[in-house]
Amino acid sequence: MGLPPPRDFAYRDPAMSAAALLPLLKSTFGFDAFRGRQAEVVDRVMAGERTLAVMPTGAGKSLTYQLPAVALDGCVVVVSPLIALMHDQLRGARAAGIRAASLTSVDADFADTRQAYRDGALDLLYIAPERATGDGFRSLMEARAPALFAIDEAHCVSEWGHDFRPDYRLLRPLLDAFPDVPRLALTATADKHTREDILVQLGIPGDGLVLAGFDRRNIRYRVTPRISAAKQLTDFIAANPGPGIIYCPTRDGAERMAAKLAAATGRSVAAYHAGLDPETRARVQHDFVASEDGIVTATVAFGMGIDKPDVRFVAHAGLPKSIESYYQETGRAGRDGDPAEALMLWGAEDFARARMRLSELPDARIAGERARLNALAALVETVECRRALLLRHFGENPPERCGNCDTCLDPPSQVDATVLAQKLLSAVYRTGQSYGAGHVEAVLTGRADERVASRGHDKLSVFGIVSGEEARLIKPLVRTLVAREALETTEHGGLMFGPAGRAVMKGEVPVLIAEPPARRLTRTSRGERAAANPVGDPLFDALRATRRELAIEAGVPPYVIFHDAVLRAMASERPATRSALGGIPGVGAKKLEAWGDAFLSVIRQF
Ligand code: ADP
Ligand code: ZN
Repeated sequence: MGLPPPRDFAYRDPAMSAAALLPLLKSTFGFDAFRGRQAEVVDRVMAGERTLAVMPTGAGKSLTYQLPAVALDGCVVVVSPLIALMHDQLRGARAAGIRAASLTSVDADFADTRQAYRDGALDLLYIAPERATGDGFRSLMEARAPALFAIDEAHCVSEWGHDFRPDYRLLRPLLDAFPDVPRLALTATADKHTREDILVQLGIPGDGLVLAGFDRRNIRYRVTPRISAAKQLTDFIAANPGPGIIYCPTRDGAERMAAKLAAATGRSVAAYHAGLDPETRARVQHDFVASEDGIVTATVAFGMGIDKPDVRFVAHAGLPKSIESYYQETGRAGRDGDPAEALMLWGAEDFARARMRLSELPDARIAGERARLNALAALVETVECRRALLLRHFGENPPERCGNCDTCLDPPSQVDATVLAQKLLSAVYRTGQSYGAGHVEAVLTGRADERVASRGHDKLSVFGIVSGEEARLIKPLVRTLVAREALETTEHGGLMFGPAGRAVMKGEVPVLIAEPPARRLTRTSRGERAAANPVGDPLFDALRATRRELAIEAGVPPYVIFHDAVLRAMASERPATRSALGGIPGVGAKKLEAWGDAFLSVIRQF
């Protein structure tokens, strides 16, 4: 079967630049301007070029094909690997008045969708990769060439990426069958290696790479030792009224934490992990997405495919797997650009456990995993800017200080613990490398309790060599030395020398640690910002209530109606007319028509 003759693509018209689409951006999405590097990507798409856009989560990747979908005559085909994600996008697109549909195993209106595509009645068509590579889809494309192929989560095409999917490799023949149709590959997570591979795999020229910065300025990072996770998280939640995710290291831990936090905070807290049955999982996920204040305690099984823009916090109750996963997980907070918080609680035992697991790995992987752990150790230990450290990890060159992480907001002073570390290690050594931190501390500070006395440890030369003032540094120092592999823990929780122990004991490496955060932990005043939403403001609350009603009526999550930022603007500007309401960023023509009057009538009552 021959291909249809090349079409006269509307995008060959130079007037169809991103700048020329600004009125359409406003009328469809209600936005006044492009964000970050969106304009560049849209320009390339409209010029018919091939592009790989690497942009952090929340940068607004979907707009770079949804806007062309409205502007171009012809349908934009979006390959996307997750049905949940697709349907979420579909709802958003339809709410903006875009004629969108999806072809997935759970869509019943299959024949209708195909027909609508053939009739040119669609702007946007979402399809799963395994379906996109089939013959049926190919013939549909041959019946009518699409205006653009958008390949979402494009890192799936690369074996270097963290989520390789063989189906993605089979897309190439489809793309090549339509050489004139522009391609747009999109991803949030691709290191240099993976980026280069995506370009090759999808036939995109090197100069087609648009790489946006990784920085998520609205996320405030905090990393702090875990003293009592439930207590710390309870305080944290109290200061963060919006929806949030709390990552827990184990399924059990997620369940227990959900119960504790629900009791302590009175908020709705649900556990999510791979051990739950599929219905429960789907329900927890659905409720969370629809909620304005829900909390999920979850293992890392949670989050992929969740496109909820108003997640206000992501907490880690234990050490994440790597900096990459930490960045991806915390990146689920604040996609809407409003202030968001990321809190990590860590303990020496997290490192001890992770290092123990290293020995179970095949030799070829040990060095890599050890490097990952060391990078995490540097992150939790640093007294410098957390964001700068993270961004440097991803190859960026950030400013020294960000002003929006714990160490920037409340710089810890550094203490030279080199000599104390020598004392500590020699106490570990002299007591036989089998006692826990508490016992070693008792020996060092000269506390001759029964255990110390019965072992004769009060006779050792290290007994009582640490003064009261220095004693407060022992626990944080143990954490640091474990994180750095100078100490390891035995099966029974005792401390023993790790590979880096000897050099530290000899005083060959300086050990600088942050002043213990005991007091900083409970201090909430400094750097604490007011929650972005004026919760308690009667008009804002009434607007939210209306949004909830409309959301239930339309069967979509509240954020699909309007984002919080839009409601805030309504509450402060109090527009009285449709046109004034339409001037608020985020209020497009379709939404104005569908929901404008409902909100105007609320505003009039105040
Ligand atoms: P990504 O897919 O890159 O994670 P999304 O496409 O989900 O990001 O967009 C994140 C949020 O940013 C969405 O809520 C979207 O409405 C908003 N957004 C996108 N582009 C703009 C823009 N130009 N101006 C304002 N908000 C935008
Ligand atoms: Zn900082």
